[in-house]
Amino acid sequence: MNEIARLIEETPFVDTHEHLWEESMRVRGVAQGKDSKLPAPDLGMLFCHYTNSDLIVSGMPPKDMERVTEYELSPREKWALVAPFYERIRHTGYGRFVRETVRKLFDEDDLRDDNAESISEKLRKAVQPGFYRIVLRDFANVEYAQVNNLQAPVFMQTELPDLLCQDISTVPLSSGLDVKGLSKAFNKEVGSLKDWHELIDGCFARFGPRAIATKNQSAYARGLDYDEVSAEDAAPLFARHLQNPRRLTPAETKAVQDHLFHYCIDKATEYKLPVKLHTGYFAGHGGMPLHRVRANAGDACALLRAHPDARFDFFHIDYPYQDEMIAIAKHYPNAWVDMCWTWIINPAACVRFVKEFVTAAPVNKLLTFGGDVLPVELVPGHAAVARQGLAQAVSELVAENWVGAGEVETLIRRLMCGNAHELFDYERATSAWK
Ligand SMILES: [Zn+2]
Repeated sequence: MNEIARLIEETPFVDTHEHLWEESMRVRGVAQGKDSKLPAPDLGMLFCHYTNSDLIVSGMPPKDMERVTEYELSPREKWALVAPFYERIRHTGYGRFVRETVRKLFDEDDLRDDNAESISEKLRKAVQPGFYRIVLRDFANVEYAQVNNLQAPVFMQTELPDLLCQDISTVPLSSGLDVKGLSKAFNKEVGSLKDWHELIDGCFARFGPRAIATKNQSAYARGLDYDEVSAEDAAPLFARHLQNPRRLTPAETKAVQDHLFHYCIDKATEYKLPVKLHTGYFAGHGGMPLHRVRANAGDACALLRAHPDARFDFFHIDYPYQDEMIAIAKHYPNAWVDMCWTWIINPAACVRFVKEFVTAAPVNKLLTFGGDVLPVELVPGHAAVARQGLAQAVSELVAENWVGAGEVETLIRRLMCGNAHELFDYERATSAWK
């Protein structure tokens, strides 16, 4: 291992994006067996997030993929279903991070017919109180993780606040408006836009001090073209939405979302919370509308201009439009770019991206790691792929004389954790739980 790779191995990542289940839910899941809502704790767990998409796109029947995460088949039978397609995807980032996880956690070179059972056994046995800290700190060398928990409606009251900092999800509050769900969850009657503003205010007052950021992934459902719609214009539309959401035209629904989304950005700014936004590539398979996705970076410019005091963290480098994101990070003081998830979407593109970003935009604007997974076991594998890519990018920058050998250590610290320390207030968020 060369000096650069060694430094990167030893430097901890701040993990800026995960969807990790609460640890206790995982522990309970093992005890509940097939009554739990989680994938079975065996090798199927390693294929349940992202890699299942590559397998299906390569030709695996979706029904077979489902059986891989269920309880009926033995690990060996599951492997027999996966193996012919794993061979087709073993060189992709999604294939690679599963293999790296198997190397890191279970000390095996690869998945095979003769270790499907033993890997599954080790995986299940490891699910004990305290295992998140071991997997994240000891195996992934992650300082702490930032989690957008998908089980809580707006904010997860985590049991591990120092290890799993939590995002406030602004989706049900604004762009994926869920009046019914949230008025029930927060026991508040909502009869007007003013009431809804109060509900949003209440969420920020209650969760804001303990949150690490806000998160919104509505780019899966709509464009980032959030027009500035006044409360006066939005109020009658919101009132009609309360009577029957289906009576609003798509343009009227959009106007309500637009108003509320800007309102949430203002709240995030008030509470000094970075605004994390999904941009670019879609998880899953067979559904991505690339025409609309392509407009994400252009649409984001209006948001950046409308909220000069907000700090935006654009996720997934807007892949495959990452050039636009370099331009945004270079041009707008309030824009950061986040490589979460991206190392496994296209590792080689990420190597190019780091090199181009570092030589084009201020180096403090780049965040280089987030696993973006539900099963914690996949974080060490993802971090290994990211470390390999980062080592290649930095090595090439030095070899090509863009970065001096004496500048390497500072650069690596910035990219892996220093920039996140500057952007996210870990101290404030964690001390508020005490
Ligand atoms: Zn995510």
